[in-house]
Amino acid sequence: MKIKTKTIRFYQDKDLDSLLQSTDLQEKDILGMKAVAKVLPFRTNNYVVEELIDWKNIPDDPIFRLTFPHPEMLPTQERDRLMDLLSNNAPKAEIKAVANEIRRGLNPHPAGQKQYNVPTFNDEPVPGIQHKYDQTVLIFPTAGQTCYAYCTFCFRWPQFVGLDDLRFATRESGIFQDYLQHHQGITDVLLTGGDPMTMKTRQLALYIEPLLTPEFDHIQTIRIGTKSIAYWPYRYVTDDDADDLLRLFEKVVQQGKHLAIMAHYEHWQELDTPVAEEAIRRIRSTGAQIRTQAPVLRHINDSAETWAKMWNMQVHAGCIPYYMFVERQTGAKEYFRIPLVKAWEIYQQAIQQVSGLGRTARGPVMSALPGKVVIDGVAEIAGEKVFVLSFLQAREPDWCKRPFFARFDPDATWLNDLKPAFGEDKFFYESQLEEILTRKALKV
Ligand SMILES: *Cc1c(COP(=O)(O)O)cnc(C)c1O
Ligand code: SF4
Repeated sequence: MKIKTKTIRFYQDKDLDSLLQSTDLQEKDILGMKAVAKVLPFRTNNYVVEELIDWKNIPDDPIFRLTFPHPEMLPTQERDRLMDLLSNNAPKAEIKAVANEIRRGLNPHPAGQKQYNVPTFNDEPVPGIQHKYDQTVLIFPTAGQTCYAYCTFCFRWPQFVGLDDLRFATRESGIFQDYLQHHQGITDVLLTGGDPMTMKTRQLALYIEPLLTPEFDHIQTIRIGTKSIAYWPYRYVTDDDADDLLRLFEKVVQQGKHLAIMAHYEHWQELDTPVAEEAIRRIRSTGAQIRTQAPVLRHINDSAETWAKMWNMQVHAGCIPYYMFVERQTGAKEYFRIPLVKAWEIYQQAIQQVSGLGRTARGPVMSALPGKVVIDGVAEIAGEKVFVLSFLQAREPDWCKRPFFARFDPDATWLNDLKPAFGEDKFFYESQLEEILTRKALKV
């Protein structure tokens, strides 16, 4: 298929007026959106605006909700305070100070990412990497700490807004290589961000090519976590270095590694354009696999039909559904989160509508402090209604796949809302978790 070249153009908060002028939105709504954009960074691009968003369906269109700020994404009081400042043309510095104050209240680093996941090497913390589960190391390349558009639910937003003490990135590609070489048990390297695919191919190669040498034979899989196939598929099709990128992917595969593109898709609309299909086709032609994941989000994809259709389209395109996440507790969480029981119902009703090839999707999963906890279901055991839970990944590997039980709670939205069932006072892993965290806190 011949796709016409598109050159990227970014939009930010100063463009909100012009982007929204021909919609039916009221002036007050637009002011509310601008207020939210002072706190949660707003960025989108011409592909999202021209090809993904259905402008006949504003403001409910899921891609519009996903990338554009919405007044309800901040608590009323805080939003109104900013709206007042904006409508009174308050000094920029004052607006910024208030926005930063609100940001700090939004729990920027959930699940102990900073305190407990940064490993040490020769007694020094290794910057820009996280090592939580034995097999897999996460790498945050410095140049990949941005995205083609920003998701309004994103928990990584502190990385985009320049709150320096919240930044989290490796300064150079060499710094993590010693660490990998000294840990022969690591099999997977996951490049993440932001979005590492915002880097030029030549920059990306600086992280990937060294891993193809014999010193890194223990690294079997290179994963790249990215939203680019959804937000800027031209990266793989018509960008200047798109063909170089495909050659790099081929090289990884030819060296005998598994290359896994971990693609974030929140909605089937993101798979439904000619260039999105072409990007998938081209990536797969290199021998790379595409695995897909997303959180379940109110206002965007909180229906079983949406997930079933998305998984079906992914399988049809040759992608492998991987995780359905529960929204993390950060940022505009009140706006997006849904009760755990609802997330499980959506999963259960969606998974029955797809063939076995779509049932590789696991979920709903909470990526929490002790590990990745999946809600296996709701059951009644010995007269008590309970959530059945288990770990898919854990700080202590032996916790995996051991069923455990929490008292049913229709309003719970996260692991720390849950209480052990059957009158127990702790979940089975909790004492050991405390020990592990104390040990880590002493080391860092
Ligand atoms: C999810 C996750 C991984 C990868 O887990 P897999 O189950 O292997 O996909 C690695 N590190 C962290 C911190 C994670 O949250
Ligand atoms: S693409 Fe990923 S990292 Fe970037 S804003 Fe969206 S969720 Fe966050």
